[in-house]
Parts: sequence; C-alpha cells; structure tokens
Amino acid sequence: MRLWQKAMIGLARSERVTKGMQGTRCMDAFSRLFVGGVDGEACVGRAATLRGRGVSASLFFLGEYVRDPELVRRNAAELVTVGPALAHAGLDVHLSVDPTQVGAMISWDVCRENVRALAEAVAGLPGTGRNVVMLDMEDSSVTDRTLALYHDLRSAGLPVAVTVQSCLHRTGDDLRRLVADGAMVRLVKGAFAEGPAVAVQGRAARDAAYREAVETLFSTEARERGVYPVLGTHDHVMIGHGADLAGKNGWTRDQWEVEMLLGVRPGYQRALVEQGIALRLYLPFGENWWPYAVRRVGERPANAWFVLRSVINGLTGK
Ligand SMILES: Cc1cc2nc3c(=O)[nH]c(=O)nc-3n(C[C@H](O)[C@H](O)[C@H](O)COP(=O)(O)OP(=O)(O)OC[C@H]3O[C@@H](n4cnc5c(N)ncnc54)[C@H](O)[C@@H]3O)c2cc1C
Repeated sequence: MRLWQKAMIGLARSERVTKGMQGTRCMDAFSRLFVGGVDGEACVGRAATLRGRGVSASLFFLGEYVRDPELVRRNAAELVTVGPALAHAGLDVHLSVDPTQVGAMISWDVCRENVRALAEAVAGLPGTGRNVVMLDMEDSSVTDRTLALYHDLRSAGLPVAVTVQSCLHRTGDDLRRLVADGAMVRLVKGAFAEGPAVAVQGRAARDAAYREAVETLFSTEARERGVYPVLGTHDHVMIGHGADLAGKNGWTRDQWEVEMLLGVRPGYQRALVEQGIALRLYLPFGENWWPYAVRRVGERPANAWFVLRSVINGLTGK
C-alpha cells in the first residue's frame, strides 16, 4: 500500500504527466469525480446542486506549496472572488485555504495579510449559514505558524476556523487551547507521512488518537464554550463515536458536522444525510486538478478504476 501511495505521489508531482493529463479531454470524467469544477463558477454551480440534496460545501482553489508571488496573488484573488458568488447563490460562504498557497512559502506576513483580507471579505458577505475561512493544516513544519495565524485572526474577531491532525503528539495540547477558545475545529487524522518523533505510528494508534481527540471536541465543556466540531473523516467508526458522544453530552444536530472529500464514499455520504447528520463536502476547483485527484487514487487503489474508465470512455468517444 505504501509503495502504491508513493507511486501515486510521484505521478502527482510529475510536471510532465500533470501537463499531459490536465490537457486530456478523456480525463474529464475522472476530474469530475473528485473536483468541483475547473473554475469558481462551475464549482459554485456544483455547490448549489449539492445544497439541493441537503449537503453543504467548502470550496478550495487547487494549488499548494506556491513560491511564485504572481501565483500567490492569483490564488488569493480566486478565493476572494468566489465568496460573493456563493453568497449570491444563497449558499453559505465556506472557503478552505492552505497557508502555502497564499504566501507562506514567501513569508508568513504575506500569508497573514492574504488570509486576513479573505476573512474580512467573507465577514462582510451575507450568508445562510456559517461563513468562515477554514485553515487547512499542512505538514508539521508549519503547524505552529498555522495555529498562530488562526489565533491571531480569531482574536481580531474574524470568521476563521482551523484544521488539526489527530496523529500529532502535540494535538492534545492544541485542542485544549482551541476548546478554551470556543473554536470551530476540523479534526482530521493527518495526510502527511510524519516520523515517530512527531506523530503516532500505525493504524491502531492513529485511530486511538482520533477517538481521543473526538472525546475532547465533544465534551460538555467544549459545548458550553461554543466549540463547533467538524469531523473531517470518511471513517464511519469515528463518525459513529462522535455522534454517540454528541447525543450523550447534549449536542444538537446544528452544533457539529461531518466533512468529507467530494467523490469519497458517496453511498455513505447519502446515508449520513438520511440520518439527519449535517454533511459538508470539500470541493476543490481549478485547472490544476491532476495532483489532487491522483492523490485520492493513492489513498485507495480501487479509485484507479475511475482513471482507467475515463481513459477508455475518452478513447471510445463515450
Ligand atoms: C474535509 C477534509 C479535509 C481534510 N483536510 C486535511 C488537512 O487540512 N490536513 C491533513 O493533513 N489532512 C486533511 N485531510 C485528510 C485526512 O487527514 C486523511 O488523510 C483522510 O481523510 C483519510 O483518512 P480518514 O479519516 O478518511 O480515515 P481512513 O482510515 O483512511 O479511511 C476511512 C474509510 O474511508 C475510506 N477512504 C478513505 N480515503 C478514501 C478515498 N480517497 N477513496 C475511497 N475511500 C476512502 C477507507 O477505505 C476507509 O474505509 C482532510 C480530509 C477531509 C475529509
């Protein structure tokens, strides 16, 4: 599995393959599976369709680890533009952002200014739900800075939320501070291959760490402080654990949600909506979709079938 995942990461990073695939029409079906649209307009349309099915969306403009100041400006501008389009469509304005796509590779001051401008823009928009800028969490070299950015903007009264990775040893402490702050926290297991000095290792330990973090986020104290837990996982055992605790500790259905990636476990997504659990989908958009989509294949080899089917459909004109 690790070998497969490494191979897919290699494919995701190859500029030659990326260029070839993103220009290939026969890959359209594959991109649609995991990607909300090639541009903001298409993605807002997809979010509106989802809303009709009782599902919310968080929009993310594709492109991480950007050093080029021009691209950083473009990334920030795309997100600022898509906010009003969501509000205009009567949707909540929920935007996800990676610090390294909006300037952290240049300087954290640039990043802070871009996220601040985005959060100010979001704060000024009408919305039907929780308008917020959700900070994604990248590798452990930027955890401190990302949390500091969150606390800084939050103390300025801006609508920001943050992602934490349960696999990190430090997360218990980080969560205690976020609970005290009454934060909106997206809890994920962690997508980066971190070493034993930084993170727990192995499936059992990763799952145990996630369970423990769920318990912190769904405690009575967290509810009283106004925490809004977001379970960023496709793991039905962990979601079941959260739902049980929510019931036991007096959380109502509008005080927490589950967030999954577009295209992952769609049958289970429908089942959650039928159970009345608030569900949000992470909708990436943009032309630079190949690295993102191929990483989803790396997480689950069965998804490789969709790539193959797209190529066959393209070749046979279906
Ligand atoms: C909304 C959202 C935001 C995220 N943001 C971040 C972030 O900011 N930083 C970060 O480090 N990580 C982030 N992640 C990724 C996360 O850390 C995990 O790597 C990822 O969600 C897979 O773990 P899991 O919790 O779904 O559990 P797993 O134990 O990996 O999977 C649970 C179940 O879901 C199925 N599944 C998982 N992935 C797939 C897939 N691609 N296709 C089909 N089935 C699948 C598995 O087969 C299994 O049955 C995010 C995830 C989500 C859902």
